[in-house]
Amino acid sequence: VKCPFCFGSDNRVVDSRESGEGDIIRRRRECEDCGKRFTTYERLEEVLPLVIKKDNRREPFDRNKIISGIQKACEKRPISVETIETVVSKIGRELQESGEKEIQSTEIGTKVMQYLHELDEVAYVRFASVYRSFKDISEFMDELQTLLKSPDK
Ligand SMILES: [Zn+2]
Repeated sequence: VKCPFCFGSDNRVVDSRESGEGDIIRRRRECEDCGKRFTTYERLEEVLPLVIKKDNRREPFDRNKIISGIQKACEKRPISVETIETVVSKIGRELQESGEKEIQSTEIGTKVMQYLHELDEVAYVRFASVYRSFKDISEFMDELQTLLKSPDK
């Protein structure tokens, strides 16, 4: 996004909100070059950060991929598709609000685990074990302990 005043391309997001029209996000940006502020309207898929995979390749945030990953973990658990979709929407919104251009795939995994932890213990452990390639069980247990101890629980 270029500044409409000086055409500089360095700017930061100072405010971000839904425009009330489908998947259009209204953003206030501040130019790093001239300091002026301007408003942009961006489509949801344009404001979501790219996902950095373990091999350093980037791919777009894929909502459906995350939904199917969670569904797999929630198989035969009392969790509706609607609940899963809500979780993924919340994660998407958090990512938009962060204003980051790129995000590590593991960060998304951690967010999913935090939500699953609140929803269903079994689904959470299943997801954690398939999502992350833990070196050994103790690494996995460490992760589990960290999340269980999180103060917002
Ligand atoms: Zn400017």
